[in-house]
Amino acid sequence: MNVLITNDDGIHAEGLYVLKQAFDSIANVYVVAPDRPRSACGHSITLHKPLRADRVPLRDGSPAYASNGTPSDCVSLGLLGIVEEKVDLVVSGINHGPNLGWDLTYSGTVSAAMEGAISGVQSIAISVATHKPSVDYTVAAKLCVRIAQMLRERKLPESTLLNINVPAVPASEIKGIMATKVGKRRYMGSLEKRSDPMGRDYYWLGGDLPVDSLDEGTDVKAIADNYISITPVHLDLTDHSALDSIRSWGLDNLLD
Ligand code: MN
Repeated sequence: MNVLITNDDGIHAEGLYVLKQAFDSIANVYVVAPDRPRSACGHSITLHKPLRADRVPLRDGSPAYASNGTPSDCVSLGLLGIVEEKVDLVVSGINHGPNLGWDLTYSGTVSAAMEGAISGVQSIAISVATHKPSVDYTVAAKLCVRIAQMLRERKLPESTLLNINVPAVPASEIKGIMATKVGKRRYMGSLEKRSDPMGRDYYWLGGDLPVDSLDEGTDVKAIADNYISITPVHLDLTDHSALDSIRSWGLDNLLD
């Protein structure tokens, strides 16, 4: 099996290294990752400047590529050129921090897996759900390898990726694994206005903890209850339930 690993925390992130080491036992692993932290860059891609991919060996001496591009760029670089073999699986992570609910729309980690799914390759995004500085990635890495093995038998539907979040508690305190749907996690949005030494205003966005709707069956609820959350995410953003209603609005009249 050929596995392409990327992340949005950058090539030197511990989570990427632990993930890579875990996959070494079952796969040929290729690493193409951003050369710097790129968290919350969403699904942005680089079209208007050159993309670099420099060989930067990882801590264990294994080859890897560091790119000035985004996580999605790294997947494209891997799938379209750097990896000469057929890639069987794209794995993005292990992210330092949760990717839950509406985080998904900001997430570089999840966007990289989306890029894999768009390219028709089975893809997984995996995160440990904590912002604490010291994180144990071993449970997440081991689980990800087991899921990768499972995906060899049970293929994901087309255009679907898996978004996995692991609670940041000791393995003995993890209650189980839940298949979940995307929940609701809102950042209430604080904007702090300051002045620079020249007297010009500048702003800091965010800072507040998110507010979760702890609905049953959601990823946010699973993590709140110390379950591992596995969400199948589809690339179809259509609201199918609203489609018929919008068709009945008489849209053609807008051209009168
Ligand atoms: Mn990140």
